This record gives sequence, structure tokens and C-alpha cells, in this order.
Amino acid sequence: MSYNNDELNWVYDRTGGYCFYCGIKLAFVNYGKVGNRGCWEVDHFIPLASNGAHQPYNWVPACVDCNTRKSNLLPWHFMPDRFSQGERDPENYL
Ligand SMILES: [Zn+2]
Repeated sequence: MSYNNDELNWVYDRTGGYCFYCGIKLAFVNYGKVGNRGCWEVDHFIPLASNGAHQPYNWVPACVDCNTRKSNLLPWHFMPDRFSQGERDPENYL
């Protein structure tokens, strides 16, 4: 997936620049630059593999570690203590 600069800005600002999952500070300029401090990626809250939408409401900023560990897991399987089963809107957890 590729994102234009407006989309990346929107996703990053959604959390004020922190990983949606673990809360680590992300560096906007290090988007996709694995190995760089604050590197981040766009995660699909509901994975595409589970019919999640490739739409802004389903995009959250994630550090590489979280995005890798989450992989194709549904959010309530990735973090069962945080996300309610069937929850499809990350807006409820911002
Ligand atoms: Zn993280």
C-alpha cells in the first residue's frame, strides 16, 4: 500500500504522533524507514485479510514492532484487554 503525504499526515496526527498500540513516539519523517528511530507504518485496524477497508477510518499509525506483531490479527485478538470483540472503529480508542 502507498499513501500520499496528506494521508500520512492525517494518520500521524490522528494520535498526535504516537503508536496507536503501544504509545511510543513516532517520527513523521521516518515513515517506512525500518531501523530508523521512530519509524512507523500505517496499520489497518481491521486487517485487509479480514475484509477491513482500505479507507482512512481504518488506518492507524503503528510502530514497526507493533505492526509486525499484529500482522493479520484482529485488534481484539492482538490486544484482548483493550479492544472489544467486533469493534471496528479505532476512533473509539483514540
Ligand atoms: Zn507500537
